[in-house]
Amino acid sequence: MTLPQVVYIKPQDGEEKKIIGYACSGCMTLKSFHIGTDGDARNLAEAEQCCAPGVCRFCGEPTEAKPHKAMDYHSKCMRVDMEKKRLEKAEKINEADWDGGCFYNDHWYDNVDEARENFDGPPDEWPEYLTVAEEKHVAPLDASQILESHGEDMQFGDWNPLDNVSVDDLKKALQPFNDEITTIVYYEENLHKVVVLDNTKAAAEYAADNEGNPPC
Ligand SMILES: [Zn+2]
Ligand SMILES: [Zn+2]
Repeated sequence: MTLPQVVYIKPQDGEEKKIIGYACSGCMTLKSFHIGTDGDARNLAEAEQCCAPGVCRFCGEPTEAKPHKAMDYHSKCMRVDMEKKRLEKAEKINEADWDGGCFYNDHWYDNVDEARENFDGPPDEWPEYLTVAEEKHVAPLDASQILESHGEDMQFGDWNPLDNVSVDDLKKALQPFNDEITTIVYYEENLHKVVVLDNTKAAAEYAADNEGNPPC
């Protein structure tokens, strides 16, 4: 911890010497009180912590010293904590009860077995759960929305080339395109659902495959 320096206001004739704040001893930034107020514990704490090394509130280890801002967490520890909280709240589905897609390392897989084939490293580094993939369909273009947003487009001033186009006409014109585009399926992570894996069988197979032949 750095010791802050007390900053005084220069006394006018007949005035008392008065503390107006504390400065960080590292960067000398003044953490001042509002003029006229006296001693403030918050200022003192701010000055003490300004350039002091921080401690991670998750793992208790020191954080990287940053000027003017003591970091009280490591980004990695924060991510691990967020993931832990997500898992606690998520709906958990056993692998045996899930035959849909899932995500591993930001990649979509058609099913759990396919994802497992792509696990990195030995079994003790494999994940214990995967996030469920949810099937989504591309949204159709909405004729009234298009006309509305075009009306708000001021590049034409008062004149709007789509003024005389009716919603129904545009709807009809868009139909073939919409028929096509809405058949497109894509997948998104459903962060509220996870598949709890049973890696036992795959781990045994991995061990058998690597017997006497440890991975380099
Ligand atoms: Zn400082
Ligand atoms: Zn940490």
